[in-house]
Amino acid sequence: MRNLIIFGPPGSGKGTQSIHIANKYNLAHISTGDIFRSEIKNETELGLKVKGLIEKGELVPDELLIDILKSAMNKFKNVDGFIFDGFPRTIPQARDLDEVMDEMNDYINIVLALDVNDDEVIARLLKRAELEGRKDDNEEVIINRLNIYKEQTEPLLEYYANRDKLKMIHGIGSIEDIFKSLCEAIDKAE
Ligand code: AMP
Repeated sequence: MRNLIIFGPPGSGKGTQSIHIANKYNLAHISTGDIFRSEIKNETELGLKVKGLIEKGELVPDELLIDILKSAMNKFKNVDGFIFDGFPRTIPQARDLDEVMDEMNDYINIVLALDVNDDEVIARLLKRAELEGRKDDNEEVIINRLNIYKEQTEPLLEYYANRDKLKMIHGIGSIEDIFKSLCEAIDKAE
């Protein structure tokens, strides 16, 4: 199995690149953000619970994530591994993921961190707001999401660097060029 984490601030291109990587390497793409958006759209109990938080750009509490993650992973059959996109976002979530991997007698091969500066991320998210109309893509919420990323999610860079899993990837350029850099890193990590 090949298990990857794609990491980076909101708007760094994680979603787009994950889809390409999942296709190329036959991986299950697990995007917790996509899961929450679908639950909100279908007005499920979970969706109603998390809607307010997500629209403000806050994180969903850690204890809700683990079951969602496990049930998302169980839906896939005949894949060669997983690509986690938007998860983990906190140190407790990273520990939970390590446990899930342990239970499967498996491990995370590499954490691919897309390096994109704040100005670029803000510009991209404002553009996405126009194109897709995501409720959490207005300027105030974008700033909040970036602050939360810095406070709660960025410490994971050190967590994975300490475990020799971290690979920084320059995240500005064409989708194709960035995809190429990501694939090189994945192939090397075998
Ligand atoms: P994303 O599409 O990954 O940017 O996620 C959209 C929103 O969903 C985030 O701003 C959070 O409110 C919520 N979310 C997604 N994944 C997580 C996670 N792993 N932990 C907490 N909240 C999450």
